[in-house]
Amino acid sequence: LIQLFIPLNFMGMVYREIKQALIDISDMFAILDRDPEIQDRPDAKPLAVGDAAVAFEDVRFSYNPDRPILKGISFTVPAGRTIAIVGPSGAGKSTISRLLFRFYEPQGGRILVDGQDIAAVTQESLRSAIGMVPQDTVLFNDTIGYNIRYGRWDASEEEVREAARLAQIDRFVESLPEGYDTPVGERGLKLSGGEKQRVAIARTILKSPPILLLDEATSALDSFTEKEIQDALDRVSRGRTTLVIAHRLSTVVGADEIIVLDKGEIVERGSHAQLLAAEGVYAAMWNRQREADEARALLKQAEDER
Ligand code: ATP
Repeated sequence: LIQLFIPLNFMGMVYREIKQALIDISDMFAILDRDPEIQDRPDAKPLAVGDAAVAFEDVRFSYNPDRPILKGISFTVPAGRTIAIVGPSGAGKSTISRLLFRFYEPQGGRILVDGQDIAAVTQESLRSAIGMVPQDTVLFNDTIGYNIRYGRWDASEEEVREAARLAQIDRFVESLPEGYDTPVGERGLKLSGGEKQRVAIARTILKSPPILLLDEATSALDSFTEKEIQDALDRVSRGRTTLVIAHRLSTVVGADEIIVLDKGEIVERGSHAQLLAAEGVYAAMWNRQREADEARALLKQAEDER
């Protein structure tokens, strides 16, 4: 009997696992059903990019109907200019970048690129006009060279090196025994957050998109890496329409306009100097961050002296 019991028991286990797997799959469909992928409209046309000016017009958005995230946001990024969005955690900053890339669609208002509603153009054409440097870059399990060339497949070896140089990752790559042929990810080298971001910047430089969308990493980088990344970003954004989702205020000082977002609403806007003079939310954030930076520097000094 026991000989029969063991296989039956085993089959029972398998049955339960299959059933659980089916439940998981049906959950997945339920999720997909709730959050359908954005589809191109049947009459969608390719985006015709001119100067690449971006405008948000009274944009309203929520992930769940009971919790509005953006409550009527309007701003423009004039062609070739840099606009920075700052604000407390959870204010809705990254949501703005997801909407511009059309990962989601607004429930109200419009987002325009050169006067064309992005909801009416093909996603492919929209996304090829935007270079996105995301918060957490995920690299392909391939070589560093492959990961940079992903920006533009027909780029020459020389162009890949030049992009790496502008992104300030060239010296690091060239110090590796296999150089650009070094595998990254699971099979090879583990890159730090700052290095991964510079690979993403090099990829974006190669793509050379008319619109740049920078979603800064939330995680603290050391000040040397932060400066290197900032220099690389400054170079790539020069003369390009750029929207920076800033989590660190040090990177927004030079922006043409800073938009302060709080709980899904624009509460202040202006240049760095104007906002400091206004002594409002931005000035308070700036002072807090400066104090934190000073405290960190003191701590480091004390550690070095020990
Ligand atoms: P941080 O500075 O911390 O990155 P943020 O201003 O970029 O914050 P968002 O990422 O835009 O904030 O998120 C705004 C709000 O929307 C948050 O309260 C967040 O919890 C919520 N949220 C973000 N993504 C989703 C999602 N996929 N589903 C449901 N809610 C979400």
